[in-house]
Amino acid sequence: MPEDRDRRRRPPPGGRWFWVALVILAVINLLLSNALLSPAPRIRISYTEFLAQVDAGNVVSVVGTGETIQGTLAEPISDPQNPQVTSTEFETVRPAFAEDDLLARLIDAGVTVNAEDPDRPPPLWQQVVFGFGPTLLLVWLWLMLFRRAGSALGPLAGLGRSQARRYEASGKRTTFDDVAGIDEAEAELVEIVDFLKNPEKYTRLGGRIPKGVLLSGPPGTGKTLLARAVAGEAGVPFFSISASEFVEMVVGVGASRVRDLFKTAKENAPSIIFIDELDAIGRERGGSMSIGGHDEREQTLNQILTEMDGFTGREGVVVIAATNRPEILDRALLRPGRFDRHVVVNPPDLKGRRAILEVHTRDKPLAPDVDLDAVAAATPGMVGADLANLCNEAALIAARRDRSTITMEDFYDALEKVVLGAERRIMMSPEERRRTAYHESGHALLGMLQPGADPVRKVSIVPRGRALGVTLQSPEADRYSYSEEYLRGKIIGMLGGRAAEEIVFGDVSTGAENDMVQATQLARSMVGRWGMSEVVGPVTVFDDRMVDAFGRPLVSEKTMEIVDDEVRRLVDECYEAARKQLTEHRDRLEALAAALLERETLDEEEAYRVAGLPRS
Ligand code: ADP
Ligand code: MG
Ligand code: ZN
Repeated sequence: MPEDRDRRRRPPPGGRWFWVALVILAVINLLLSNALLSPAPRIRISYTEFLAQVDAGNVVSVVGTGETIQGTLAEPISDPQNPQVTSTEFETVRPAFAEDDLLARLIDAGVTVNAEDPDRPPPLWQQVVFGFGPTLLLVWLWLMLFRRAGSALGPLAGLGRSQARRYEASGKRTTFDDVAGIDEAEAELVEIVDFLKNPEKYTRLGGRIPKGVLLSGPPGTGKTLLARAVAGEAGVPFFSISASEFVEMVVGVGASRVRDLFKTAKENAPSIIFIDELDAIGRERGGSMSIGGHDEREQTLNQILTEMDGFTGREGVVVIAATNRPEILDRALLRPGRFDRHVVVNPPDLKGRRAILEVHTRDKPLAPDVDLDAVAAATPGMVGADLANLCNEAALIAARRDRSTITMEDFYDALEKVVLGAERRIMMSPEERRRTAYHESGHALLGMLQPGADPVRKVSIVPRGRALGVTLQSPEADRYSYSEEYLRGKIIGMLGGRAAEEIVFGDVSTGAENDMVQATQLARSMVGRWGMSEVVGPVTVFDDRMVDAFGRPLVSEKTMEIVDDEVRRLVDECYEAARKQLTEHRDRLEALAAALLERETLDEEEAYRVAGLPRS
């Protein structure tokens, strides 16, 4: 949310004035204490002048430190170097060769000869009063001014107090009508809202309000949205804070903010506290993030735990938290009595996507040809945030085309832009175009040949984003798990571009870099995450939970080596398979490349027809 971010970045009220005032105070303090504490100026006189003053009986007292003599006069004399300055304090240097009997002469003249340092600092109480007095006075005045202005502590208030935003039901409220496609999660929260509105209904039967609800799910599935809908519906005060804000804080402030947040919430009970992005502070202690700055996180986390433990259950305060990564949360957070209710927010299925599309096209004029079911079917894997973005993109494209309604064409073009990136008009040399055509044909053909692979939806040699061409494959229906055969087929397809270049041109280009990264990543996951290598076996190697305090994987060098070997073997095998299949089907590869060079973009039906393969 852009507005959220704005509010987060805005300095606390009075922040700038705080610093200006501080600088002014420091300057005033320096000047005043200098004036009040520094001794009267001591003028330097010659030794002969000093002796003259002694003989004139004007010297009251002296103190000698080595060659230097300092003293006080009865009558002020003027400074020889600077005649405007007169003083009774003087200083002179006695030449080492002086053979006069100075002491006798001083005593004769009735001068007190001191053993005491005349520049001794004034007593402590004087220092305190004159040194800090002005500052204290000004601080006091300043506080009074700010109290007048309505804030108890002035600019300092921002430091320890909670920055939680109290949700005000102003302007356009978010309600449960704005949330779609995540019905189970929604139902749980509807219950919480009802609970806060009519607590007797539940407590009468001996039920207990849950203390904490943890929303977890991938980014963009609508967790923050759901919490805002709760705020809009609840009719009770709603305090929200993002845990990532705690991370930026000065040490010691996080915990006191949490304390303040809970205190305010209790005073306003029944109420809801929403802590967004809990993983920012709720990471498992001693985990990979524990080096540097973990104290603040830990203190903040501990304070949250303490506060939640302090609930008797009768306060009427419910804590809702959201996280993208529940698996890395400190287990202490999940214990009974804390976040004891778990609500998983899953990516929407076909029906859910359709419902979300409806929400986001509610106030947009749609042409009669728009089929939201078809759009939903074409967007497997997309979450609420993606779909909101897609609808917005479609509206922008329609506007650019000066249409009064959004058509299906706009939706498809928006989808292409969202999935593939915007088209880029760059000039490719004929040689580059030919290479790209074979490269993409390699991906596409292997995509069509692998049993059980996602259908090839589009092949194109129009440059987009950083890519010179694209081949888009997407599943027919939502998939929730993948077989080893499917994943192997995917790697083969990923390496198809490079294999085609090698077969046709005898060498490869840099265009295959990204393909190799993806293939290697997938192979690593298959071996070290999903146990798809017989040699490694069903052992987890790569996982956020399998790291030591320094973030290094908790596996031996030996295992790592075996994993490396297996990844290499898997990728090599797939690359061989790619080359073999492309060589076998060279005629289909040639046909696809020729069609691409002629037409630049082939859709699903064209691609399968040109390749002479049935749509499986
Ligand atoms: P999360 O907090 O889970 O990362 P957000 O709540 O910030 O996701 O979602 C971002 C935006 O995406 C929302 O403001 C909303 O416009 C849209 N969105 C996400 N999920 C949904 C949904 N289930 N229904 C409707 N809109 C959604
Ligand atoms: Mg969020
Ligand atoms: Zn490629």
